[in-house]
Amino acid sequence: MVSFLESVNEKPFRAKQIGEWLWKKGASRFEDMTNLSVSLRAALDAHFSFQAADIEEEVKAGDGTVKFVFRLHDGQKVEGVLIPSAGRTTACISSQVGCPLRCAFCATGTMGFIRQLHYAEIFDQYRLINDKSLANFGKPLSNIVYMGMGEPLLNYDNVMRSVEILTAPWGQQLSPSRITLSTAGVAPAIRRLADDGFKAGLAVSLHCADELKRAKLMPVTELHPLKTLQEALSYYHSKTNERITIEYLLLNGLNDSTDDARKLWEYCKPFPVKINIIEYNATGDKFAPSPAYRLEAFVNYLTNKNMVVNIRRSKGKDAQAACGQLVQKRLKTEN
Ligand code: SAH
Repeated sequence: MVSFLESVNEKPFRAKQIGEWLWKKGASRFEDMTNLSVSLRAALDAHFSFQAADIEEEVKAGDGTVKFVFRLHDGQKVEGVLIPSAGRTTACISSQVGCPLRCAFCATGTMGFIRQLHYAEIFDQYRLINDKSLANFGKPLSNIVYMGMGEPLLNYDNVMRSVEILTAPWGQQLSPSRITLSTAGVAPAIRRLADDGFKAGLAVSLHCADELKRAKLMPVTELHPLKTLQEALSYYHSKTNERITIEYLLLNGLNDSTDDARKLWEYCKPFPVKINIIEYNATGDKFAPSPAYRLEAFVNYLTNKNMVVNIRRSKGKDAQAACGQLVQKRLKTEN
């Protein structure tokens, strides 16, 4: 951008103005950038094109949750969710088209990996959901979670750049404490986050603290074993001093015994955690949610160990908008 500006005899500070139009004011047309001359706007328009995402479909669930299907410039689609709750409006956004990790319980994994999202495409989901939040609830988004399609830590640079845009003074100026990135446990990237001074929240989809059982549910375990993940989380805590959120999906008879709870407690000993127990949302007939008595026994075990435990009831199930239910048909590509 700076070299283009020089080539049309414009001062480099114009780049800053353009950046603010893009990331602070959310412009998606050069003609809206009213502090630039008409001739510069025309030159920009001739030279660059916006590849903004659009909302293709909007599905409202009975509980107020809204699922969006975003259409990207190349026709690919990703999903995002607007989740209103007491005092909060949260956007759940995607980081990849599809996902390579193929967790056994997750619908997104069945698509396979299609492509990375560019940071502007991640930002666009935020921008479009924020507009909807303003229109529907009269207030902007209060929280952003990277818990849509894809594994954020396998699209590290774009995800980090999008977090920068959301938090920077020249961007959306959101507090990093309102942003949470969720990972299936890409251990080396967790260390990198710590080294890069990551300020937002980190959540780990642990779901099982037994190596063999976890490997069956989440094949990523074979690449990054539980021990390696645990060491990376200890490192992360030692560098950031932050508490880590552990997500734990309860699957009937698979990972929900009190022995599983004990393993989870043991696993989390090296660092402070908050456990979010997630109900399983049906994505097929291989798994079933744990019945209330098993959930209760699991949670009681952990609270007796003085762990902080929240039970997260997923929202948006009747719109297929709940955790793990986001899936799009694969576009046919020629190759
Ligand atoms: N890849 C990242 C980001 C996705 S977040 C990660 O794994 O953390 C989506 C969350 O929903 C993850 O915790 C995921 O494990 C969980 N999930 C996947 N399928 C689910 C299902 N069927 N029911 C409930 N939660 C599910």
